[in-house]
Amino acid sequence: MTAQTEFEASGMTRNTQWEQIRGKLRSEYGEATFNSWLKNIELEKIDGSKASMTLPTRFLRDWVLNNYANRIRQLWNTEDNSITTVDIRVKPLDKKNTSSHKPTFGLADMSEPFKGKKPLYAETTSPDPSLMAPLDPRFTFENFVVGKSNELAHAAARRVAEAKDSVPFNPLYLYGGVGLGKTHLMHAIGHGIAANSPEKKVLYLSAEKFMYRFIRALRFKDTMNFKDQFRSVDVLMIDDVQFISGKDSTQEEFFHTFNALVDQNHQIIISGDRSPTDLEEMEERMRSRLGWGLVADIHPTDYELRLGILQSKVEQGKIDIDPRILEFLAHRITSNVRELEGALNRVLAYSDLVGRAVTLESTQEVLRDLLRANDRRITIEEIQKKVAEHFNIRMSDMHSARRARAVARPRQVAMYLAKHLTSRSLPEIGRKFGGRDHTTVMHALKKIDELRQEDIALSEDIDLLMRMLE
Ligand code: ADP
Ligand code: MG
Repeated sequence: MTAQTEFEASGMTRNTQWEQIRGKLRSEYGEATFNSWLKNIELEKIDGSKASMTLPTRFLRDWVLNNYANRIRQLWNTEDNSITTVDIRVKPLDKKNTSSHKPTFGLADMSEPFKGKKPLYAETTSPDPSLMAPLDPRFTFENFVVGKSNELAHAAARRVAEAKDSVPFNPLYLYGGVGLGKTHLMHAIGHGIAANSPEKKVLYLSAEKFMYRFIRALRFKDTMNFKDQFRSVDVLMIDDVQFISGKDSTQEEFFHTFNALVDQNHQIIISGDRSPTDLEEMEERMRSRLGWGLVADIHPTDYELRLGILQSKVEQGKIDIDPRILEFLAHRITSNVRELEGALNRVLAYSDLVGRAVTLESTQEVLRDLLRANDRRITIEEIQKKVAEHFNIRMSDMHSARRARAVARPRQVAMYLAKHLTSRSLPEIGRKFGGRDHTTVMHALKKIDELRQEDIALSEDIDLLMRMLE
């Protein structure tokens, strides 16, 4: 192979790897988040163990670095285990495009997930259509399967959607892990209100979008208009409120908007990935405000609900499939509904492609990676145990306050592994290590990252532990 073709070949695989990673990001974080923050990341180069990428603005870059860089790094590492760090820079201005001031964000592009279909906006007299996220036509109450784990959230959502002149609970706060139906229920409320009270102005948007709009309004000195628009709605829904955490001015604005609407007796519906009291980075007054109305949590699914959801999907799609396959999936894909649906779709797509009916064998074959991941979710306890064994310290030292290097370092390694091998947040990890603060965890991650550059033995220890745990 000449040097030239070799280079092209590796460029090809790099691009394929990058496409894989983009695909995973899109499915893990969902279409809206992907379009808002991740779509415009471009792969620049791979240099040894470092993957370098770019984003068009500093704001986007900072946000992605803070929120998604770790996951991107992990995904690169899975594609190519020699890649251990990532770097995201602001893309130098393209000379040809300097005349265009239009931001290249994907936010205006919200209709993309609903290819071809005209998006339905729930409000009648929209102040500014770019504020709204369209409601997904599939996310209705009819398509929502009720089980023990989501019955309270579902009943509360119905009540809010059907209330004509009253506000049953304010706010309605829905929380639960990813992929358990929070967004689905919120859209269903939106559809319900549009049907029952078409005169009502409903605004649904993600907390990220709220924040983005607010920062833009600040930048363009347009906050009056921003405030008016938010405060003139009858129903405000903010999805994934945990993303507002920690951004002071946005929190402040959110708090005021919230109070103004509550004072006018307008309905607010909020979703989050944890309970209001666990939103550590949210100001205390906001946390307590969020818990004033009805707080309904959605628990992980049980077998019956998972099977019910699969059955409802195949009925809707008029799909002919051996019921044993559905039972198998409901049994084995326990993580969340999004993965469960994804698994069913993959199995169906495969059978469509090869032109053969789905069998138990083909299902197992097609879903091998997913099944393995569902069988084996590493817990922080397992990590602590392995690390303690490896460094020959006591398990209790993972929680203890002892700061001697001989125990502190392994503890930091365990935190580092917990961050990289599980999807737990920093505060959650801190809590599992004897109730430490998330900043302590952050410090540990930084320390270990630094040490890995200089201390080859430690770096090898960590790689070994990672392999054993995975
Ligand atoms: P969350 O917002 O909690 O992360 P979503 O509302 O996006 O989760 O749900 C993920 C996927 O699972 C969606 O496609 C949704 O329609 C589906 N889903 C979740 N719960 C149910 C349910 N009880 N019945 C039917 N579909 C569900
Ligand atoms: Mg959601």
